[in-house]
Amino acid sequence: MIVKLKPGSDQKQIQRLMRWIKEQGLEIEYSEGSTYTILGLIGDTATIDANLIQAMEIVESVVRIQDPFKKVNRMFHPADTVIELPGGAKIGGGHFAVMAGPCSVESEEQIIAVAKSVKAAGATILRGGAFKPRTSPYAFQGMGADGIELLLKAKEATGLPIVSEIMDISQLPYFEDIDILQVGARNMQNFTLLKEVGRLNKPVLLKRGLSATYQELLMSAEYIMANGNSRVILCERGIRTFETGTRNTLDITAIPYLKEKTHLPVVVDPSHAAGMHRMVKPLSLASVAAGCDGLLIEVHNDPEHALCDGPQSLKPGSFDELAGQLFKLRALMETVA
Ligand code: PEP
Ligand code: MN
Repeated sequence: MIVKLKPGSDQKQIQRLMRWIKEQGLEIEYSEGSTYTILGLIGDTATIDANLIQAMEIVESVVRIQDPFKKVNRMFHPADTVIELPGGAKIGGGHFAVMAGPCSVESEEQIIAVAKSVKAAGATILRGGAFKPRTSPYAFQGMGADGIELLLKAKEATGLPIVSEIMDISQLPYFEDIDILQVGARNMQNFTLLKEVGRLNKPVLLKRGLSATYQELLMSAEYIMANGNSRVILCERGIRTFETGTRNTLDITAIPYLKEKTHLPVVVDPSHAAGMHRMVKPLSLASVAAGCDGLLIEVHNDPEHALCDGPQSLKPGSFDELAGQLFKLRALMETVA
């Protein structure tokens, strides 16, 4: 249930209403906008008489929400969530962020070289996997803790904040100095992991599962927020469809749909969506045109010899060219929006 308050309402009356709501056993998501203050009621609102609230002097309107997701719902929090990172990078609410780097950290030389090149091209966040979810148990599983150490060296060398995937809660101690925890597509419904990252004070990049619906993605984000962490970034990374020509199918519709339903930033990973480096440019441009808040792009200095996802990785030169085009398109979008 959403209670929209009249502009300039008396604070004492607001406090009294909020106390009463809490006495009914409900939780309140409080959102103060430039004109309206909104109280999002979370819990079993079935027994609450909407007319009783509507009759109050300070109340403009009362609406019952059918969606099962509450805290992530834009109706509960109309303004875009802006996520700030160490070093000043922001994402959401008109702030666009490019996250780039290799699929996996492979060596100090590799990660430092890629970090420097993506930073020079305009990326504001460095990506790199240390713990890798691989389909085959015989494939490279990532450098693990050593990979995290190398990411931190790259952070020191460039000042770029780091996003890296956590696969299991036992890995948490390694992630203390990592700026954004990535929950990968395969773990989108690992509810134990979602609850744990929900208890942390760190942004989480939540990737859409291979066959997850929008509602399932939003409910997974709700798990994180319900446990106290409101800094969630959603990532569309391609879904499995009947099409076999590409690794996955990028669902562009997810961008406007999610932006409408939630206040959380929405980023796109065109690399895992297509699985082919040649597709990364058109899919990135299409995503920007559709209104995404950022991109997650795989870049490798030697894709032919990459230990993971080489075919979909851009070389630093191509990434530099693409980044320039993305920033130009963003600027153009502002003139037509
Ligand atoms: C990745 O970002 O390297 C990755 C494994 O992504 P996803 O979970 O989307 O497959
Ligand atoms: Mn990858």
